[in-house]
Amino acid sequence: MTYVPYHKKDTITMLAGPCSIEGPEQLDTVASALKGEGLTWIRGGAFKPRSSPYSFQGMGVEGLRIMAEVGARYGLGTLTEVVDTAHVDLVSSYVDALQIGTRNMANFELLKRIGSATAVNHKPILFKRGMAATIDEWLSAAEYLTADGNPNVMLCERGLRTFETATRFTLDISAVPVIHKRSLLPVCVDVSHPAGQVDLVPALAKAAVAAGCDSLMIEVHPDPPHAKSDASQQLTVEDFKALLADLRTVAAAVGKTIV
Ligand code: PEP
Ligand code: MN
Repeated sequence: MTYVPYHKKDTITMLAGPCSIEGPEQLDTVASALKGEGLTWIRGGAFKPRSSPYSFQGMGVEGLRIMAEVGARYGLGTLTEVVDTAHVDLVSSYVDALQIGTRNMANFELLKRIGSATAVNHKPILFKRGMAATIDEWLSAAEYLTADGNPNVMLCERGLRTFETATRFTLDISAVPVIHKRSLLPVCVDVSHPAGQVDLVPALAKAAVAAGCDSLMIEVHPDPPHAKSDASQQLTVEDFKALLADLRTVAAAVGKTIV
């Protein structure tokens, strides 16, 4: 498919989908709901950067195949994470946009490889902030991605490691206006990973929209209690739809529509 631009000034691009791709039915259920809501992208991990080697590591290439099939079936842009320089061409061949996760923000060899692999095709890149990185470090690292000529990079705030334990990470909502002041790159806010718990997701999402984010990331799963990763923070499809209706109201108040 041709690349859908991530960012237009009057839209907020919703990047919703499961934490991990777990099978064709699971992803189809989510994709069908996203399409039904008029959204344009789906996210899902095939290679998962898990904190423990004993946790589910993702479906790998089979997950990429499922993502490509489901994306084509519904006409949705597809986003998945790349965790290894050796996977860049493989992952690129299956999906429309590449995610770089928080644990790899400072993996400069991976950034260089993705920057050079997308220098000509300008494949969109979603570049998450390191959980302990300053905004200066994040913006500097982003230049590894753009240096060879790909301008199509979106930054993604996803929460910081702080002394606070009431949330999984501390969402730095200030990053949105700071990035808008300091960079031309659009900013996504991932509200699921900082929340860590599903009941906190709506408030963080509304705050991100009100703060002027260009995109939102929200994890959605057909059966969250049985999810193979991040079970406690994923919204059901029904809860996601209800939240989306509220977010559209907040977005309208700041002159934007959610796509
Ligand atoms: C993800 O989005 O699936 C993910 C692993 O996020 P992060 O890199 O922010 O932890
Ligand atoms: Mn996750």
